[in-house]
Amino acid sequence: MPARSVPARASSFLLFITYKRQTMHSQDEESSFSESQIHGAFHNHFTDSVQPLIELIDSLRLIGIDKDIDLPSIAVVGDQSSGKSSVLEALSGVGLPRGSGIVTRCPLELKLRKLRQGQWSGTISYRGHKETFYDPLMVDNLVRKAQNQLAGNTVGISDELITLEISSPNVCDLTLIDLPGITRVPVQDQPDDIGDQIKDLILKYIFKNETIILVVVPCNVDITTTEALRMAQHADPEGNRTLAILTKPDLIDQGAETDVLNIVLGKVVPLSKGYIIVRCRGQSDINNKIPLDKAIDKEIEFFTNHRYFSSLLNDDKASTKCLAKKLTKELVDHIKKSLPHLTEQINTKILGVREDLKIYDQGPPLEEEKMGPFLSKIIIEFSDQINELSRTGHSKNGNIHALLRPVFKKWDSHLRDTEVSFNAKVKEMIEKYNEMHRGRELLTFSDFAEFECVIKDHVAALQAPAMQTLKGVQEIVQNKFKEVCNLCFVQYPLLKNNVYKKIGEIQLKQEVKVEKRIKEFIDMEQLVFTQDKVFQKKLDESDIHQMTGLERYENLREDDMVLTSKGCALLDTRNLVPEKLALYYEIIYQRLTDYVPMLLILFMLKDAAKTLRHQMLEMRNGADVVELLKEDTDQGRRRADLKQRLERLTKAQELINTRR
Ligand code: GDP
Ligand code: MG
Repeated sequence: MPARSVPARASSFLLFITYKRQTMHSQDEESSFSESQIHGAFHNHFTDSVQPLIELIDSLRLIGIDKDIDLPSIAVVGDQSSGKSSVLEALSGVGLPRGSGIVTRCPLELKLRKLRQGQWSGTISYRGHKETFYDPLMVDNLVRKAQNQLAGNTVGISDELITLEISSPNVCDLTLIDLPGITRVPVQDQPDDIGDQIKDLILKYIFKNETIILVVVPCNVDITTTEALRMAQHADPEGNRTLAILTKPDLIDQGAETDVLNIVLGKVVPLSKGYIIVRCRGQSDINNKIPLDKAIDKEIEFFTNHRYFSSLLNDDKASTKCLAKKLTKELVDHIKKSLPHLTEQINTKILGVREDLKIYDQGPPLEEEKMGPFLSKIIIEFSDQINELSRTGHSKNGNIHALLRPVFKKWDSHLRDTEVSFNAKVKEMIEKYNEMHRGRELLTFSDFAEFECVIKDHVAALQAPAMQTLKGVQEIVQNKFKEVCNLCFVQYPLLKNNVYKKIGEIQLKQEVKVEKRIKEFIDMEQLVFTQDKVFQKKLDESDIHQMTGLERYENLREDDMVLTSKGCALLDTRNLVPEKLALYYEIIYQRLTDYVPMLLILFMLKDAAKTLRHQMLEMRNGADVVELLKEDTDQGRRRADLKQRLERLTKAQELINTRR
């Protein structure tokens, strides 16, 4: 039976065997394992009930849920040179950096991914670097390079994770983490606390409930004093997640075999998950280029022929093959056990993310096809707010008329205040006229042209304050528009700037129009005109009659009036001319004090709002929505991140629910 027809979810051991067939083939040695043997050993072990579980974790990892919660995985811990990398190598079929001294200097996450079809490929990623390669023999070098990048070229360590993902049709899904070995004595330039640093790093991993702890202990050391085992017991006091592996059985001193046997049988340090003894490639095997498959043969041969350990082989307590079987079983059991906790964690996270999302307003949709309608929606919302502002003056931060009123009041006060100077000017004009230009006419003032001059001068001087009023209003309206824009488009800097520009341009155009109108007003006022009825009404309402003393002479006969000196006084109205003319100023005042603000409201607020709304609606046509809705604020990023998390978690929840 060809290796490819092996069931999708096979044991870790199987993955090694099949891997070897593909990659080590070139190295001339052929496995003495027959394929039927491989199948016979493992096919029965994997029932259909466990496969969906591994697949579940696989699909959870595929949607990236491991960014949010810890998924079941296996961490390998042990003293330096205890054989961790060798065990991993045997399990995964991937040649990792090995040797004496500190070789593993960063946590290495080894993700084995089963492909339904396709070629072997590896992807190494660390600190923003990502590299895909297609030659398994490159693993060693690339891992060393990554470690040099993260932990320096010498002997330092780092807790930054290197992820090595191996995808192949001939591996099964398993995640193993190789951790730096425990050391006691700093070497070379290692910091004094190197031991503590490594211990902290290991604890970080093994304290997680989702981690199966693989403690690697060489047979030729005293297990009771092994730091790794002690740490595992500390992190997992019940020993539910701890599996011990004894390595280097070939290096045991003669006579110590029974002690080791007792350990494997759990008689020295009992562990609920027990012990497995394996023999990996030793340094001499590597030097002799013994390939992995031959090493497996040698291992079986070693145990079969071992005087003390051969019985362990039958009890499933020895060999890498047995370890692979056991490990996969443990992982599956562990997944089963973890599921309720996993579901609980996912549910709690979903609630948390939903709460967090509430803080951040609804952002743009992530799908491009939904962006156009979304842009329309926010533009219409903005337009509505501008419309409301123009219609009622209301906006989220108060009414614009409250801001405009003081500006208009100032204009009004200015007009009022100049009344005094106007009167003074009129008086001065009359006096000057009487002095310089009066001819033989009676003592009355009747030169309309002179009066017109005064009016013209005075009105002309009103242009500057009117323009100032315009500026004041323009600033308020522009700021208010921008404020609404900012509230509506705060997440979209590009869109916001676009609208800001539009607001500025529209205001500028309107300003030019209003300037022209104000000049027209001033020009019109220089005509000196009002309807007779209007002026008559002003005269009637004024106290001019009283001032002329007319009432006092009401009973006089008409001829008396003319003849008496008192009657003459009536004709002589010199001293009342300024008052009469002042009445005309009242008319100018009334016209200007209202018209200028009305003009400003109409052009700067209402018409500007109309134009802006029009332009905004046009903006939707042919707009580069992706660009306009680009968020570069932290808020945008955070929201996008939260949305993705929520999507991931919800998907995970669905996956778990449907597979139960
Ligand atoms: P690590 O530092 O824990 O990762 O240990 P390594 O896997 O790098 O192994 C350290 C050394 O022990 C290497 O030279 C291995 O070849 C050797 N080694 C590992 N396992 C065995 C074994 O079962 N028997 C023998 N003889 N040597 C082994
Ligand atoms: Mg190592």
